[in-house]
Amino acid sequence: MLQVSSAIRSKAQQLLERERELLVERGLSSRRSADILRGLALLGIPLGIAVVGAVYWMLVREIRRRGRAERAGTEANLRLRDSVEQLERHTADLAELNRYGGLLQNCLNPEEAVALTSQLLSRLLPGTGGTLYRIRASQDYAEELAHWGEHAAGSAALLPPEHCWALRRGQPHLLRAHGETLRCAHIEPPAIDVELNTACLPLVAQGSQLGFLYLSSASPAMLERMDMVQAATEQLSMALHNLALQERLRIQSIRDPLTGLFNRRYLEESLARELARCERRALPLGLLMLDLDHFKAFNDLHGHPGGDALLAGFGRLLKSATRGEDIACRYGGEEFTLILPEATAEQAARRAGEIVEAVRAMRVEHLGSELPAVTVSIGVAAFEGASDTAEMLMRRADRALYRAKRGGRDRFEVAADIPVGS
Ligand code: GH3
Ligand code: MG
Ligand code: MG
Repeated sequence: MLQVSSAIRSKAQQLLERERELLVERGLSSRRSADILRGLALLGIPLGIAVVGAVYWMLVREIRRRGRAERAGTEANLRLRDSVEQLERHTADLAELNRYGGLLQNCLNPEEAVALTSQLLSRLLPGTGGTLYRIRASQDYAEELAHWGEHAAGSAALLPPEHCWALRRGQPHLLRAHGETLRCAHIEPPAIDVELNTACLPLVAQGSQLGFLYLSSASPAMLERMDMVQAATEQLSMALHNLALQERLRIQSIRDPLTGLFNRRYLEESLARELARCERRALPLGLLMLDLDHFKAFNDLHGHPGGDALLAGFGRLLKSATRGEDIACRYGGEEFTLILPEATAEQAARRAGEIVEAVRAMRVEHLGSELPAVTVSIGVAAFEGASDTAEMLMRRADRALYRAKRGGRDRFEVAADIPVGS
């Protein structure tokens, strides 16, 4: 029994020992776990802070990026709007330029083309002053043709071409406020408080300078539209060139090149027109047929070139003896016609007498020596009213001329009152 109880006691002792060991072990393990937990806790705080920091940094970066993207978007939008506006303006400009080109092609004279251009440019460039210049045929001066708007700095009305850089270089010459380009000599110095922007654009066609365009403004906006202005000046140059060409052709087709007087074709056209006009207004009209005396002999003596020189001299005399509304023509050879609208038979006869005398006094030089004096015979006729025609009038004048020839030449004869052939 004792043995049993001591065995139990020792077993209990053992169990207690084991339990103590286990408690110690558990205590150690709990301490280890607590250490690990503490360690983890100590590590977790900075890690958490780092994570929060990283998240915060990423957020800030994202916000910045978004801000940048929004700004870029706004800028792109603005740029797009600008581009659209520019495109719209460009399209409107092109339409305007097309319309201008169409109208320009139908202008009948340089004045119309210039007026059209001033209208276009004053509409396209508000707040800009403009002046169009033409170079004179003698090429020595450029003169003002048209003017519009208010100039920021005025410009001379007449200037030698070398006073404009655009004419000197044959290229547009732009002057920006605060820029360093030279100001053309024709531009007046601007007022002190005015910012001056100017543009001079040459008008050139087929290699010849016709003039130039001068623009000035206190705003630099004008200079941004130079492409458009240049396109307009190019069209204007071509139009002016074509109109000048047409005019030259027209003159060639109605003028006699030797004497500079109108030719027979023009005589026939204008006599019919003047007769109709005078008849409508019940006005008189005188007609002179002129023929140089013994011109064949003159030609034989002084040669054809000598005869030509005399014809040219006679042409000059006839031109100087006529008023603005008179029409002097070379009918053919050494025969001439002078239409005197609104002149009575008496006035026409007086004029014939003056011409006979002037021809007697006429001296013409040829190859350095003076040609001998010549005389002229003239037949005078007057318009007789509604039943009269151009042919009848010419025939009467011709008959009167024939009488003057027969009567000894160097004189004039007036046609009989009654229309021939009526
Ligand atoms: P009349 O006094 O009767 O008028 O005699 P005329 O010799 O002037 O008359 P006619 O009509 O017979 O001669 C005209 C001459 O004019 C003939 C021609 O040689 C000359 N003639 C015609 N056209 C020209 C021209 O363009 N230049 C020159 N130099 N002579 C011309
Ligand atoms: Mg003749
Ligand atoms: Mg003759």
